[in-house]
Amino acid sequence: MHTLIAANWKMHMTRSQASSTVQELLQKLEGSIPANREILILPPFTSLETVSGAISGKNGFSLGAQDFYPAEEGAYTGEVSPEMLLDLGCGYALAGHSERRHFFGESDDLVGEKLAYGLEKGLHMILCIGETLTERNQGRVREVLTRQLHSALDSERVRSALRSGLSLAYEPVWAIGTGEVARPEDIEEAHALVREELRTLLPQSADRTAILYGGSVKPDNTSQILGIDNVNGVLVGGASLKADSFSAIALG
Ligand code: PEP
Repeated sequence: MHTLIAANWKMHMTRSQASSTVQELLQKLEGSIPANREILILPPFTSLETVSGAISGKNGFSLGAQDFYPAEEGAYTGEVSPEMLLDLGCGYALAGHSERRHFFGESDDLVGEKLAYGLEKGLHMILCIGETLTERNQGRVREVLTRQLHSALDSERVRSALRSGLSLAYEPVWAIGTGEVARPEDIEEAHALVREELRTLLPQSADRTAILYGGSVKPDNTSQILGIDNVNGVLVGGASLKADSFSAIALG
């Protein structure tokens, strides 16, 4: 399975900042990305075209969106459809990032709808799941991850559109943007649990489905995290905003 190194730029970067960051990244990484690695950049909507133009034709680089609305077109003020993203060269999209779930109130049902719809439209979807600190302290990690996985993946629509590509991202909410990294044993346990649930839910593709870890990944913890069983990549927020740190992670 190849390793996916994803940069979630969140609500950062004007077009000119995006352009200089991606040029710097290309300078540092072009020609040195191992054959089994893919670098995925998830800029805000406004910089998708800029990044798309810069990485077009570059080996090992892909483009994705942080979110979309699951409809073809219509009266959905402020929203963007999968068709619009595909038109800009996006191959990937996230569903269920914890900031969407917690700041914008996205329910398991809406996340599931986005996941199924994105797959049906041909996007490789990355489903993000993770427990809050309270849930972890209450010993509810298994319950929360299982609920999030079943509610998004236990669906005929998902099973029949899987050829578009599916990855998972385990992102403990308390480790996102906090500098707090989950302990290797916690990551290993959570990823093993996700793999086990995938085998039940999607037996044909479970072992080919990448499970990324996200939560305060930095250049100095990347290789340890990537060495943990069932970790097939990382989803990086803060440390993806500077070409220096993200290129070190990409090669780490
Ligand atoms: C994220 O945005 O998904 C993330 C994990 O952020 P950070 O790396 O800043 O914790």
